[in-house]
Amino acid sequence: VGAAAREALARLVLDVPDFPEPGILFKDITPLLGDPAGFAAVIAALADVGRDGDGTVVVDKVVGMEARGFILAAPVALALGVGFVPVRKVGRLPRATHAVSYALEYAVATLEVHQDGIAPGERVLLVDDVLATGGTLQATVDLVEACGGTATAAAMLMELSFLPGRQAIGDLPLTALMTV
Ligand code: AMP
Repeated sequence: VGAAAREALARLVLDVPDFPEPGILFKDITPLLGDPAGFAAVIAALADVGRDGDGTVVVDKVVGMEARGFILAAPVALALGVGFVPVRKVGRLPRATHAVSYALEYAVATLEVHQDGIAPGERVLLVDDVLATGGTLQATVDLVEACGGTATAAAMLMELSFLPGRQAIGDLPLTALMTV
């Protein structure tokens, strides 16, 4: 990870206690998004996850998860010269979708992707801001596979190491720019 990205994350992601509910330490990335040099540094570092050691782009699509994943994944897709695909909360995509439901602490969440968003055989990079329990990421892997694609890597800004996110995603290679 570039020093500029690390420095930007340390300085421009703010901890907000008890949001959206008591006991949650929310990672607020809006100061980072408002800083053009910091934003550019983290996008460059996330995009590197989609290249091999020679700099060759090794993914065919970049998927971002609603909503903060969109903000990060779209510029990563442009940096790599590949398409961006949104994974959205249920009911927001207008055409035929695949859907996957997963358990939250006290509820069930459902995510969707357009069936034609990813073509069979495509290699897909998954991008989001925070890896917590890993439920969102695993559901997104399942959606990519429902389309016939392969999730080949995940790139996140932050990994919360006190939660079992990494175990939840099996052997998907995961790069987190910062571990907290
Ligand atoms: P999970 O499915 O538990 O891994 O949660 C990941 C999703 O929830 C990501 O899309 C994050 O944007 C969001 N999230 C989870 N925990 C936090 C946190 N502490 N601060 C900010 N966002 C979070």
